[in-house]
Amino acid sequence: MDPEEFRRHAHALVDWMADYQRDVGSLPITPAVAPGDVRRQVPHAPPDDGEPFETLFADFRRVIVPGMTHWNHPGWFAYFPGNNSPPSILGEMLTAAIGAQCMSWATSPAATELEQVVMDWLRQMIGLPAGYVGVLQDTASTATLVALLTARERATDGVAGARGLGAVATPLAVYASREAHSSIDKAVKLAGYGLDMLRHIEVDERYALRPEALARALEADRAAGVRPACVVASVGTTSSTAIDPLRPIAELCRRYGAWLHVDAAYAGAAAIVPELRPLFDGMEEADSVVFNPHKWLLTNFDCTAYFVRDPAALLGTFQATPEYLRTTYDADVVNFRDWGIQLGRRFRALKLWFVIRHYGVEGLRAVIRRHVAMAREFASWVEADPDFELAAPVPFGLVCFRWKPVGRSEAALDALNARLLAAINGGRERFLTHTRLGGRYVLRLVVGQRTTEREHVAAAWESVREGVRGVGEAVSS
Ligand SMILES: *Cc1c(COP(=O)(O)O)cnc(C)c1O
Repeated sequence: MDPEEFRRHAHALVDWMADYQRDVGSLPITPAVAPGDVRRQVPHAPPDDGEPFETLFADFRRVIVPGMTHWNHPGWFAYFPGNNSPPSILGEMLTAAIGAQCMSWATSPAATELEQVVMDWLRQMIGLPAGYVGVLQDTASTATLVALLTARERATDGVAGARGLGAVATPLAVYASREAHSSIDKAVKLAGYGLDMLRHIEVDERYALRPEALARALEADRAAGVRPACVVASVGTTSSTAIDPLRPIAELCRRYGAWLHVDAAYAGAAAIVPELRPLFDGMEEADSVVFNPHKWLLTNFDCTAYFVRDPAALLGTFQATPEYLRTTYDADVVNFRDWGIQLGRRFRALKLWFVIRHYGVEGLRAVIRRHVAMAREFASWVEADPDFELAAPVPFGLVCFRWKPVGRSEAALDALNARLLAAINGGRERFLTHTRLGGRYVLRLVVGQRTTEREHVAAAWESVREGVRGVGEAVSS
């Protein structure tokens, strides 16, 4: 494909992208496909001879698009959002076009320096004090693994990395609430602590970690000769956006010498809004903080912001400099390959730079304020309906709620709510998911997609009520 052909195809694709953004709301939000349906439409062996790009693009529209889940549909209320935005998409296009591998300063100085600048912008935006430095990672899961590896090295004075965990005499433990994300379990396993050494701490009636229970677990471990290495606190748990009390947790971390990692993967974006900032009180005492601009800050996947107080601890854990990567600049620059697991790095800062400059901090705040206000309005409709109940507080954009007609057992309510969810999602106009809180099946509705308007939220509530009528009739007949 020569540059002129590329130009022609690229223009056609950009036209498709603009149409897609305009029309995505009229597509089925979830695909009507069964397992294997997409694979069956694609040849099992690669083509021997190249094919015209028109054919590839036609197959993309015919086979792939109908098999996609449309996360950027205004009826997106599932999981957490996975936003993109026009400036972010344009930034990704340029990143792909340049195709640079940004492992070191010397392999693309602008990529490293823009990442430093944009991460400091983000630091200011979420209110972390000067002194924290940030690096972009692919996902929060990776950032949490990085935190647990760094905490392991700090707790063992580097012995674990140098001689292996077998050479560490004192067992190490990690602490997180029962509601913490599964990426913590995964990272505890991968970082060599062992799942048995992850202490699941009790939560209160708001699903937030109980500091007294954490204190007891830390004390019991210390008395038993176990070294508390790391506490992972969540601001905005995945099930219900519960907020662990960071100040008392930070105080305990200081007392027991444990690393404090704050997982604000979804909610961290809300820290840019001054009136929501108090929900993050104490975050500035963490050793590390992670949040995902790829969830709620209009920057398409992947883009995870990871902040640390002490970059030397990161370097001590991850630095590896073989001869072929040495450059004459190494003493004067940051090489982000030494700040995490991967060597090769994408130029992620570009799309984030475009997003922050296009919207401005006030523009981004307005998006989050709008989402939070719509979520609270939905919650008020739930509260006003005697057949429904809120299942958790609504500090951000997530509403956890449950249909609760009188005179039903808990088991019957679980089954009814599962049927209600299927009824709501069945029309493929909107998409909600569920979780369990305190053992009970509850529905989750997250307002956080960029183009979601009040009318979509109101229609979602209408579809809940309609679902209730449908399921109610089916059950009573
Ligand atoms: C989404 C989420 C994660 C995982 O994020 P990835 O970037 O997909 O790894 C971790 N923790 C919390 C609280 C989350 O909501």
